[in-house]
Amino acid sequence: MIIIHSIKHLQELTEIVRKKDKTIGFVPTMGALHQGHLSLVKTSMQQCDYTIVSIFVNPTQFENSSDFKNYPRTQEADTALLYEVGVDFVFIPSEKEIYPTPGIRTFRFGKIGAIMEGAYRPGHFNGVAQVVSRLFDIVQPDMAFFGEKDYQQLVIIKQLVKQMDLPVEIESCPIVRESDGLAMSSRNRLLTTEQRAHAPLIARTLFEAGDKIKKMSINTLKEWVAQTIDADPYLKTEYVEVVNAVTLHPLKRPTEADIMQLCVAVYADPIRLIDNIRLDKICKSKY
Ligand code: AMP
Repeated sequence: MIIIHSIKHLQELTEIVRKKDKTIGFVPTMGALHQGHLSLVKTSMQQCDYTIVSIFVNPTQFENSSDFKNYPRTQEADTALLYEVGVDFVFIPSEKEIYPTPGIRTFRFGKIGAIMEGAYRPGHFNGVAQVVSRLFDIVQPDMAFFGEKDYQQLVIIKQLVKQMDLPVEIESCPIVRESDGLAMSSRNRLLTTEQRAHAPLIARTLFEAGDKIKKMSINTLKEWVAQTIDADPYLKTEYVEVVNAVTLHPLKRPTEADIMQLCVAVYADPIRLIDNIRLDKICKSKY
């Protein structure tokens, strides 16, 4: 495994790979790696000849400087995990390398960028698009792997690739959960023991909602999800939304879409967690 810090070094290596006519899979991350990240990495290694993982905590996607400052950084443990999995290249650039000048691009995603995360974290998706488009420019991967954990982000990245007509295939990977259902997240390690003990209620509620959608209107279901989570003294929902899983259009009736996604953001004060679930495929709660 080669650890790379400069764009120049990375591009010398990717040039050699391309000359050999081999494919490059890319997994962008912000580090503090867990099994969710590693599932993306393993999928890339199965589907591509070479895999590059980037670790970069992107300042432009944080609206809140203390959130950026407190974001977990565990570089040594991350590189040890990637070494174990057998990754070829790990790209760990500095902020200067990614953003040499402050004049960076602005992106517009219309309605899909304005709801849910877009509404509560203004500027977040612009920052995500800035870093992902920059990383795509540098790495020029054949395929890039993103998790359904950040469902809206996944849809936005697909839109970005379309808008910019980029020659990269976006592959989505399912959410990896802890044994009690909590969606794995780098932020989980910031939870206190009490918060961690209460957080699985989020996933349990989403799975139960999968059963209830057959008997309830979407509005009643959203209310039930919010009330169930908010009844826990450690948790507070920021939004609960049921959207068309392809267009992210908020739904009033199940008949408005073939596939629906239930998405939530929840504060386990002050840690913000997100989760989501495909509604129509769920039969019985697993948690
Ligand atoms: P992050 O480091 O949080 O920016 O995440 C990097 C990538 O890993 C993103 O594509 C995330 O959606 C994905 N990811 C994070 N957590 C999970 C998870 N629990 N299951 C699957 N993918 C995940």
